[in-house]
Amino acid sequence: MKRVKRSDTKPEVTLRKALHRLGFRYVIGDKRLPGTPDLVLPKHKAVVFVHGCFWHGHECRQGRTPSSNVNYWAPKIAANRARDARKVKALLHLGWRVFTVWECELKQAVALDTAKQLASQINNQSNGPSTRCRDAQHS
Ligand SMILES: [Zn+2]
Repeated sequence: MKRVKRSDTKPEVTLRKALHRLGFRYVIGDKRLPGTPDLVLPKHKAVVFVHGCFWHGHECRQGRTPSSNVNYWAPKIAANRARDARKVKALLHLGWRVFTVWECELKQAVALDTAKQLASQINNQSNGPSTRCRDAQHS
């Protein structure tokens, strides 16, 4: 297991702990892979990104671009999203399964459910790339 020191965001730590409790073992921030995924599960050929809703433009309440300074934020967030898409593509190309978990899915009340869902998706080898969110649609 190679550990790379990097900034640990709180939602990411939450997910890590939950997955660990569910029996998963992972590598954190493997720089050898495109986009340095937050978690890599080599045994499952899966990678997980934990995305902040704001910076990655999630369609939830937290992810909404502020109505002031739209011209400032919108291009930044669009660029992040484009970069995310490129990372996913590169990883898929290398045969990895890519999962994205959003910050809003890792709030205390729902974090364990999110982790369990993710765990079952990771265990399901036939599962393709996944982008999921619990309360994304209705905000
Ligand atoms: Zn969100």
